[in-house]
Amino acid sequence: MPWKGGRPVLLPFDYVRARSNEEAVELAIEAGQNGSFLAGGTDLLVRMYDGQLRPKTLIDLKDIEGIGGIRCQDGQGLSIGAASSLNRIARNDFICKEYNLLAQAAHTVGSLQIRNRASIGGNICNASPAADVAPALLVYEAEIETWGPSGTRLIPVSEFFLGPGMTVLEHGEFVSKIHLPKLNSLSYGVYLKLGRTNSVDLSIVSVACLALFGGEVRIALGAVAPTPIRVREAESILLDRKDEETIALAAAAAKETAVPISDVRAGREYRLDMTEVLTRNAITQALAGLAGAGR
Ligand SMILES: Cc1cc2nc3c(=O)[nH]c(=O)nc-3n(C[C@H](O)[C@H](O)[C@H](O)COP(=O)(O)OP(=O)(O)OC[C@H]3O[C@@H](n4cnc5c(N)ncnc54)[C@H](O)[C@@H]3O)c2cc1C
Repeated sequence: MPWKGGRPVLLPFDYVRARSNEEAVELAIEAGQNGSFLAGGTDLLVRMYDGQLRPKTLIDLKDIEGIGGIRCQDGQGLSIGAASSLNRIARNDFICKEYNLLAQAAHTVGSLQIRNRASIGGNICNASPAADVAPALLVYEAEIETWGPSGTRLIPVSEFFLGPGMTVLEHGEFVSKIHLPKLNSLSYGVYLKLGRTNSVDLSIVSVACLALFGGEVRIALGAVAPTPIRVREAESILLDRKDEETIALAAAAAKETAVPISDVRAGREYRLDMTEVLTRNAITQALAGLAGAGR
């Protein structure tokens, strides 16, 4: 870490603002391996202060038209610009009503101040296994729209993460929007996050559970594998029966699927046990919420 006068300092870098998707790609090609995209900076600048990252050019994406917007149209799902702040997402009326699990997940990130800057795109491009919006995007089966040197593409979120800090994004490619398909039935979602403290900490375990009218239950886990994961085994157990015993079996299956590590936040065994507990609670709460919403 570079220090000056007893304090960590940022090394000099160039700062450029892209005004369009095309310009962002051009600037990224120009900057080469030394360039980095910038959204809210809540992760990138911390890493630059720490000396972990030393980009020579920061390409700010926030001036691109539409990248900070949220488009919701009845009957057509939801489209979120990658630079939308997590507070805007957590407070958006349409999201709170139709995609409430995403609003809950966004609201758990850091603090009010962090959420004012932090973007949904930055949260997934970090590719932290503990990124809070990722399990929510997995159960909503979101698609990630990108722009890059090879053009644009739509990537299912289930294929986006490769490992800690790694995504399928190619060099010079950035996320422009995140699309959530319209849900064809009534749903109720629950996001449960266990951290060392009640706020401003990454999760030890997180669980997103979406119960859909018609019997489908979708479950995703955060912080207990190299990437956020969907747990299909647990979901299939709940297809026909949803009594207490079956919910316990599904929670045990989630624990079986998890492959957590021990780190400063928690040990592996504790993470495994809490995966089971949180999954059981999330399923129970989501099913009860759906039953209440259907009345
Ligand atoms: C005190 C503190 C608490 C935190 N708590 C949490 C927490 O509880 N949960 C949690 O999940 N995270 C937490 N974080 C991490 C961070 O705030 C979030 O992940 C945030 O959403 C990152 O978004 P950003 O816009 O600030 O990203 P930036 O810092 O701007 O960028 C992060 C990375 O993503 C890349 N990037 C950003 N946008 C794009 C894009 N559109 N396309 C391609 N690449 C892009 C950047 O190049 C960089 O590598 C915390 C951070 C701090 C400092």
